[in-house]
Amino acid sequence: MRATLPGRVAPGPLTDDGPVTTRQPRSARDLSLDELGADPQLLLTWDRDHVWHPYASMTRPGPALPVVSASGVRLRLADGTELIDATSSWWTAIHGYRHPVLDAALAAQAARLPHVMFGGLTHAPAVKLARLLVEITPEPLRHVFFADSGSVAVEVAIKMALQYWQSRGRPAKSRLLTVLGGYHGDTFAAMSVCDPVNGMHQLFSRVLPRQVFAPRPPAGFEAPLDEAYLAELTRLVEAHRDELAAVILEPVVQNAGGMNVYHPGYLRRLRELCDEHGVLLIADEIATGFGRTGELFACGHADVAPDILCVGKAMTAGYLTLAATLCTAEVAEGICAAEPGLLMHGPTYMANALAAAVGVASVELLLDGPWRRRVADLDRWLRAGLAPAAALPGVADVRVLGAIGVLETHAPVDVTAVQRVAIEHGVWLRPFGRLIYTMPPYVLDEAGTAAVTGAMVAAAHTLPAPPG
Ligand SMILES: *Cc1c(COP(=O)(O)O)cnc(C)c1O
Repeated sequence: MRATLPGRVAPGPLTDDGPVTTRQPRSARDLSLDELGADPQLLLTWDRDHVWHPYASMTRPGPALPVVSASGVRLRLADGTELIDATSSWWTAIHGYRHPVLDAALAAQAARLPHVMFGGLTHAPAVKLARLLVEITPEPLRHVFFADSGSVAVEVAIKMALQYWQSRGRPAKSRLLTVLGGYHGDTFAAMSVCDPVNGMHQLFSRVLPRQVFAPRPPAGFEAPLDEAYLAELTRLVEAHRDELAAVILEPVVQNAGGMNVYHPGYLRRLRELCDEHGVLLIADEIATGFGRTGELFACGHADVAPDILCVGKAMTAGYLTLAATLCTAEVAEGICAAEPGLLMHGPTYMANALAAAVGVASVELLLDGPWRRRVADLDRWLRAGLAPAAALPGVADVRVLGAIGVLETHAPVDVTAVQRVAIEHGVWLRPFGRLIYTMPPYVLDEAGTAAVTGAMVAAAHTLPAPPG
């Protein structure tokens, strides 16, 4: 059976008869999870009535497909349809779903200790994961703060930078410099360094701190360095050096802000400028970390070490939410040397033991496996599979780096229409803006990659040519 995206059905009250369902339970307690999962009509009715989805309207919700299980690279829908997840669940599920090693790590930890508060207590999963992160990230990073999501890891990174300069007696150094086209999360400080248009800054202009924005880095991993752009970066850092706490950006690939791939030389120059002018460098590798771009961390393309590094997403392989902010001994000692002598942050679920145990298993699975070869294979297959789209009138650009493949379109895409075409090809995509992209699990094979690129190209065929 082939899945179709359901059209919008008018939401009804709790007791509404709604669309054809066999039963009309009034309370969630009337149904087990299995029973609710087996009744997709009721599930979707309750979903529309009660559940807010990401970046969505509650009163005019878009379609949602009910997923009942997942295995390997495939999602299984309630109607039996199987779809290759070409997004790895927002770039997390790098090893595929229900990997036996990860399942076992989760079960073993659940049987021992699911969670315990991290204030004054500690445990092996957190300590081992911290040690692993320090071992695989650039040399001077030595200390790890566990956060419960990527956005919070970015908040903590910013807090570290501000507290560092406070402690050093330079409280005026409290602004951040970033580049347009970035994405760093949806909490407020993180939002202040997101692209102002994508991040809808005008909605929050009364509360968002005003940061310093450099233009978007010129596109192209291999394009020659743009001297005028380098000069603009230099000018901005020099002009704002006395008020800048840190520069924050996504190394080499800007992800949710526009899937822009840029030359590592710009990152290298920013590192030099930060050193020269006494500004910290924060690398947000929440999307690019753990091999996605072909290096274990994208900073590796530029041979640059940040002062503060954020990781998340793939760290726990799509199982549980966990992120981390790493910093150098210099940053940690700076923060802790002066009053109050501590970092003012501590999430309730900090260093959750289940998540940390899966994180350890995921990182070890990555390091023990041929991730570099797999990502290089995906890079090759994506380039070959997406190349035909370059000639299509609706397509402005085709770009690939590592396990990231992007079709940039001339006009904003009709998300539901693209998804419908992709589903016909057995593929799950989640386009946004003018981008149809894939970030597949690293375990996707050549035939699976061909299905994904085939779906993307087929969707691109349906796009209108630019006017004029
Ligand atoms: C996803 C993402 C975040 C936010 O992470 P959440 O876990 O969604 O809060 C921050 N920075 C980058 C680069 C991301 O891709």
